[in-house]
Amino acid sequence: MLSIAHGPTGALIASKIPNPFISIPLILASHFLEDRVPHWDVGQGLTSRRKSKKAAFLQELFFDFPLSILLVYLFFQAGRPFDWRPWLGWFFGLLPDFLEFPYLFLEYRSPFIKKFAAFHTWMHRSTPNRFWGLLPQFLVLLVILLVR
Ligand SMILES: [Zn+2]
Repeated sequence: MLSIAHGPTGALIASKIPNPFISIPLILASHFLEDRVPHWDVGQGLTSRRKSKKAAFLQELFFDFPLSILLVYLFFQAGRPFDWRPWLGWFFGLLPDFLEFPYLFLEYRSPFIKKFAAFHTWMHRSTPNRFWGLLPQFLVLLVILLVR
């Protein structure tokens, strides 16, 4: 899914489960489970070369990534004292995508990153349909907003 879904999901888990030894594995698992739901994301078309890597990278950098930070702030921090847990959750929620960044955009392929990227791709289900691909991500945000 997009960072706007992964980041707030991680923030929710980290703020509900104070023990990081329990929350971090759950956050990482949530990333792969969310990727398993057919969704639309900025990497859409990267493998089939319908979209340039640069376009996907810029979309991620200027839209998805900053918006995920804004959502974590609005959902978990606005009007509240600073709490590091939502931000820790945001970081681990996005970590699997951060790890794949050098593979996708810098052509850096260490054996670990290669294996990891293969697993990530194997878990990943996406759809080019923006409506049906964005709907599950909107629902994830709605649930987070209701239970946070
Ligand atoms: Zn992912």
